[in-house]
Order: sequence, then C-alpha cells, then structure tokens
Amino acid sequence: MLRLSEIKLPLDHTDEDLHAAVLKKLRLKAADINNYTVFKRSYDARKRDDIRLVYIVDVELPKQKQLLHRFKKDPHVKPTPDTSYHYVAEAPKAVEHRPVVIGNGPCGMFAGLLLAQMGFKPIILERGKAVHERSVDTFGFWSKRKFKPESNAQFGEGGAGTFSDGKLYSRIKDTNHHGRKVLHELVNAGAVPEILFINKPHIGTYRLVKIVENLRNTILSFEGDVRFETRVDDIDIADRQVRGVMLANGDYIRTDHVVLSVGHSARDTFEMLHRRGVYIEPKPFSIGFRVEHPQPLIDECRFGEQAGHPILGAADYKLVHHCNNGRSVYSFCMCPGGQVVAATSETGRVVTNGMSQYERSGKNANSGIVVGITPEADYPDGPLAGIALQRELEARAFELGGGTYEAPGQLVGDFLVGQPSQQLGSVKPSYRPGVHLCDLSPSLPDYAIEAIREALPVFDKKIPGFAMHDAVLTGVETRTSSPIRIKRGEDFQSLNTQGLYPAGEGAGYAGGILSAGVDGLKVAEAVALSIVEKVSCL
Ligand code: FAD
Repeated sequence: MLRLSEIKLPLDHTDEDLHAAVLKKLRLKAADINNYTVFKRSYDARKRDDIRLVYIVDVELPKQKQLLHRFKKDPHVKPTPDTSYHYVAEAPKAVEHRPVVIGNGPCGMFAGLLLAQMGFKPIILERGKAVHERSVDTFGFWSKRKFKPESNAQFGEGGAGTFSDGKLYSRIKDTNHHGRKVLHELVNAGAVPEILFINKPHIGTYRLVKIVENLRNTILSFEGDVRFETRVDDIDIADRQVRGVMLANGDYIRTDHVVLSVGHSARDTFEMLHRRGVYIEPKPFSIGFRVEHPQPLIDECRFGEQAGHPILGAADYKLVHHCNNGRSVYSFCMCPGGQVVAATSETGRVVTNGMSQYERSGKNANSGIVVGITPEADYPDGPLAGIALQRELEARAFELGGGTYEAPGQLVGDFLVGQPSQQLGSVKPSYRPGVHLCDLSPSLPDYAIEAIREALPVFDKKIPGFAMHDAVLTGVETRTSSPIRIKRGEDFQSLNTQGLYPAGEGAGYAGGILSAGVDGLKVAEAVALSIVEKVSCL
C-alpha cells in the first residue's frame, strides 16, 4: 500500500472529491487503484475563512513499485508502514506464579489485557468498584455530596479516565505503534471506529463506561482474573525481589511479577512503597484552576463563520505563557462543551478536573489553567513532599468552598482585580455539587496567583474574550500529573526492586489515557519476556 499525505479539501467536500484528489495526486485513473482508506483526518484552521480538511490516505494498487519510483522525491507519497501489533511472547505451560497487576485504570487494563491475550492469566487487583457501581457512587457524590473514599472519580474500574472527556491523543514517541493497538482494542470494545482516523479523537464519559466493561469481559475470556474492592496494602519484598502482595482483606498472593499501575492519586500506596524502600523521586507537576467560558466564544474565535460545522465539532484551544516571575502558565486537559467535575479521592479535600460527553454539546468550554512547579523550587523536602503540597492546597480549597465539597470559585474579572466575587454573571459554572463564590487568591501560593493574573490577559489577546469578566474560575487543579516518579530501568523494573514494574501515570511514565495504555502494553511485554526467560532457565 502507498500512503499519501497532505491531501487538502474544503469542509463540505464529498467522497467523490476525495477519490478524485487521490487519483489526481497519483496521476492515475479510477481503474488503476483497487481501494483506498483514510488513515488520518485533521483540519487546518489557520485561515478561518478557508478551513480545510487534511487527509492521510492509504491506497491499494497493483503497480506500487513503479509509482514509488515515480514519486521518489515527493515526501507525501511513501510506502504504508506496518502498524499492526505483533505479540512478543506466548505463555509457557508451566508458569509457577501468575503476574499481578495493581490498578485497573487504562495502564493496568491494557497491561492486563495484553498479558491475558498472550496466555499469562494475570490477576488484576482494583481497590475501587466495578464501573456500574462506581458510576452510582461518583454521580452520587456530585449530586448529593456523599463522598466515598474508595469509589470516586479517581478510584474504580477504568481508573481516572472513566469519567473524563476520553481524549485519546498524546505527544509520546510511539515508534512501535502501540497506540494503534490501544485504539483497535477500544474499537473492538465498542468505541466508534472514527477514533482510528480522526486527528484528535475522544470517546466521552457515558460511552467509556460500557467500553471499560467490555474490555474487562475480554480479559476474563482469556482467563485473566479481575477483582474489585481489592486494595493492595503491602508488598512483600525479600532481598530486593518482589515475592507477593498483601491485600486489605488480609489475603496474600504469591507472585514474582507485579505491574504497579496505581495512578497518581494512590497516595497511601506511595507511602507504603516508600516505607518498603522502593526508589522514588519527586517530579514536577502543575497547580491552578479550571476556567469556564461559553463554548460559542471559543468556536467563533477558532472557526469564524464555520463555527458549529458538524465535522469540526466544538473547538478546543491550547495556550501557554511564560511569565515575568519565571513561571509558565498553560491550558491543561481542555474539554470542549464539557463539565467541570469534582475529582477528589480523599475526604475533606476539593480537586477539579474536566469531562465531557461524546457530543460535547454542553454550554461551556473548560480547561485547567495551571502553573508548572518543581521539587527544587517548591517542595524540596523529599520524595513525597509534592503529595503533602497537593493535600495542603486541596484541604484549603475545601475550606474556601465552605466545607461542603463545593468548589471555591471567582469570576475572572474579580480575580484580575483581586476582589471577592459576590454574584455569578452570564457564565453558569458546571461544577457539582456547586460553586462557592469567594476570593481565590489564598488558595494557591502567591507566585501561582501572580502568574495566572499575568497570563489571563495575554490569553485574551489570542482568544478575545478569554479574560471576560464573567468567565468562572474554580479551584483547585492539583492532580495534573504525578508528583513522584518511581524510577525504572531499561528492563522496566524498579531501579532497586526486581519484579516490580512501575507503570502509567502514577509512576511518572504517562500523562493521559492513551499514553497510560501504551505504557501498560510496553510493561506487559517486559513482564512476559521476563517470565518466559525465567521458565526457560529452569
Ligand atoms: P489511573 O487511571 O489513575 O488508574 C489507577 C487505578 O489504580 C485506579 O483505578 C485506582 O483505583 C487503582 N489503585 C490505586 N491504588 C491501588 C491499590 N493500592 N490497590 C488496588 N488498586 C489501586 N486523560 C486523557 O488522555 N484524556 C482525557 O480526556 C482525560 N480526562 C480526564 C478527566 C478526569 C476527570 C480525570 C480525573 C482524568 C482525566 N485524564 C484524561 C487523565 C487520565 O485519566 C489519566 O492520565 C489516566 O487514567 C492514567 O491512567 P493510569 O492507568 O496510569 O492510572
């Protein structure tokens, strides 16, 4: 197959137009090609009055060699690379101890899936509940303030990604095409096939719930074992080699291979690992607020007269500003047409994040507006100091919000001049259980408040209206990424604990659903190869 890139067409083109563009590019007639498929579709909206769709297309044709020769100097005509997934191992018959995966977020789920597909019969242990029961608890918290520390937006089947926008893009280098494997498995589990070819695919919360359940059933069909409400409270390590895991219910599971995919909110688990001497480093992360604007403001700015065009959907944005105080402020996890959600996993704390449904038809656009912080400058007191800072800020946000799990909030106009907000304006915040208007400046360190105050007017120059008086800030956004890294070597095992495979976002090796899934696949391959090697040495 040949891969053609940079095929540009107007928004309202037909299938025939694309076919014609492919033939024109290759200077061929319809009879000369067998078939073509779209590999990727994105849009170029740099000129708002001439927004174009941009395609990468794979063409099947008989005379590929001659054509490649004819286009040898054209960077937009190349052979199609093989992006299919190839299993690295098959489970030997005599595996003494089954591998254990801790955590059933995207990382643990894809690690478990791949181990199961290769025949290793993994045991997946998840502290939270199965996704349907978890949904009842999470939505129950949002509507009735009934918080459950083991079943919420962070903990439970599907991990942090379940009640999210389900954005599936990442900037990771993916030379072995693991990302395609993740996307294909999601489609097999019920995601719309368009996620395979649109540039910035997303799934949406309600659809994710069903997909997560289907992925679990696939794991079970390959004789994997998935256990809910099963928290790992300790790890048995002897001579710096993992021997087993201890569960909160007192049970012990003997294993030599543990995938540690616990996400960035498993603070008790991090403390336990630190006590057990597992090597952990502090890592930079970001803190800030969520901001909400009317979605049409963003659509109009990005798409002009084409705002609302169905193929474009609700517009997103990406903003960054380097401030005079040396800090950088950037937009994080932007959710077009979405909702700000309560994402705490601890009692008496308030944390914001964002989600949306597949249609992205909510009235507001939201994103985190966050400031980068580092262990050297901001939390120098050891590997877990970032967690202590997160807890302090989240507890302060709880207090500022009135101690009822409402989020402290302020209108952008008031925030910029430093006066508490008394009344909402035209933008109705979507955060549930509610927003408590106040002065947000005590909620974050001074340098962060100063940086966000400088950045908002600069963002307003890029998106006119971004600093509009009535836009709403809610706080605090603290779980942007893991505050630690559980370092691993090239064999994917902890630097000082054999058999422990730190993985995904919590270990500092992913940031987002797709990258966590990809990391899960890579770690599963490493576990599989290690087991095969051990068995062959016996
Ligand atoms: P997690 O998803 O956090 O999963 C870890 C799992 O481990 C959890 O289920 C937890 O219950 C379990 N666990 C923890 N400790 C233990 C223990 N001791 N024993 C047993 N189980 C344990 N990313 C995107 O790419 N796109 C988005 O649109 C997006 N939106 C988001 C919206 C929200 C509201 C949130 C909270 C996050 C969002 N993210 C998004 C981030 C994304 O969800 C995470 O990056 C991703 O889920 C990380 O995957 P993970 O598997 O590494 O960890």
